Amino acid sequence: MENLQARVRLKPGREKSIQGRHPWVFSGAIETVEGEATPGDLLKVVSHKGEFLAQGFYNPHSQIALRLLSFRKETLDADFFRQRLCQAIDFRTKMAIPSTALRLVHGDADGLPGLVLDAYGPYLVLQISSLGMNRIKPQLLEILQELLSPEGIVERSESAGLKEEGLESNKVVLSGPAEPHTIIEENGARFAIDLLGGQKTGFFIDQRDNRKAVAAWTAGKRLLNCFSYTGGFSVLAALAGAQTTSVEISEPAQALARENFKLNGLDPEQHQFITANVFDYLRQLEPSYEMIVLDPPAFVKNKNHLKQACRAYQDINRIAMRQSLPDGLLLTCSCSHYLDWDLFQKILFSAATESGRQVQILQRLGQPLDHPVSLFHPEGEYLKAFLLRVI
Ligand code: SAH
Repeated sequence: MENLQARVRLKPGREKSIQGRHPWVFSGAIETVEGEATPGDLLKVVSHKGEFLAQGFYNPHSQIALRLLSFRKETLDADFFRQRLCQAIDFRTKMAIPSTALRLVHGDADGLPGLVLDAYGPYLVLQISSLGMNRIKPQLLEILQELLSPEGIVERSESAGLKEEGLESNKVVLSGPAEPHTIIEENGARFAIDLLGGQKTGFFIDQRDNRKAVAAWTAGKRLLNCFSYTGGFSVLAALAGAQTTSVEISEPAQALARENFKLNGLDPEQHQFITANVFDYLRQLEPSYEMIVLDPPAFVKNKNHLKQACRAYQDINRIAMRQSLPDGLLLTCSCSHYLDWDLFQKILFSAATESGRQVQILQRLGQPLDHPVSLFHPEGEYLKAFLLRVI
C-alpha cells in the first residue's frame, strides 16, 4: 500500500489548504515527485521546504492528484484502514438510525476518500471512485468480511468522475447471491431493494429524514410526489394517511413502487401511479394537491452544464409553484454537488417571480446524519431541500 521510497513536494505557498486539512491537492500545486511512484500509491507529502504535511493516494492522471487520508506521521497499513472503517461504522451504530438501510462510510467525511459503503440489511454495497481506493479493494473486502460478515457484497462504482481517475465503471456482485434482493425497513415502512439493478446503490437512503417529515405534513392530505422512483415519499405518506400520486419516468421503478405499496399493506388501486415525464405531466395539471415533492435527479452533472441545469431547476420549480393550491407546501430538492444553497435559493426566487406567487421558506432540510460533511471538506455536502409555502 504505502510507498516509502517516494514523496511529493509541493510548490512554495501551496501547503495552505493542507494546513486547513482539506483532503484534496490539485495537480498544479505539486512541484515534483521524488523517487519512483506508481499511480494509486500512498505517498507522503512535504512542503517546498521539506516539512511533513500529510499522506494520501497519488494519481497523476487526475486533476485531484492527491487524496489525503492522514495529516500525521503514521503507518497506513491494513490496521489503519480497519480502524477508519470501525470508527465510521461504530458511529452509525451509536446514533441508532431508524432504518436497516444506512450509509456506513461517506467518503472524505469519514477520512476514506473515494469510498462509499451502504448497508442494506445483511448486504453491503460498495462504491469506489478513486484509483488508490480501488487498488486496496482486496484488503478492504477482507476487513469488511471480518467486521460485518455480510451475506453478500455488491460493487456499484458508476460515478461520473471515474474516467478521470483512470477507472472503469463496475457493476458487479463481489460475493453472495448472483441477483441480490432484500427488503429494508425505514421508519416503519418496508421497501424492496434490487441491489444490482436499482438506481444509485439501490435506494435513495439520503432522503430518509425528509420522507419522514413529509409523511407528518401530509397526513389526511393529497400528495403529489414528483420523481418518485420506487415510491419512497409516497409509501411513508400513504402510511400516515395521505392520498398519493407518484410521477416517475422509469417503468421498472414505477412497478416496484406499486409492489412497495402492497408490501406495506396499502392498496395501490387507492393511489395513483403515473409513468410520465414530470415536466410534461405537471404542465397540464389542475392545482389539486396540498403538498408537492420535487426530488429530481442531479441536473448538474458537471460544472460546464451549470447554466443549462439551473434553467431546468427554475422551470420545474416555476411549474410546481403555479400548480400549488393556495397555502400549498412544496418540498423542493437538489442533489447536485455544484449547486450550492445560495444559488439554489436564487433559482427559487426567479421561479417564484415568474410564477406570480408569494412564496415563503419554512425550513431548510439536507442530508441525514449517516451522510456527514467534514468542515474541512464542504464539497461533501450535496443534498439541499427547501420546504416552501406557496401562498
Ligand atoms: N424521491 C425518490 C428518489 C428520486 S431519484 C426516493 O425517495 O426514493 C430521481 C428519479 O427521477 C429517478 O427515479 C428517475 O428515474 C426519475 N426521473 C428522471 N427524470 C425524470 C423525468 N423527467 N420525469 C419523471 N421522472 C424522472
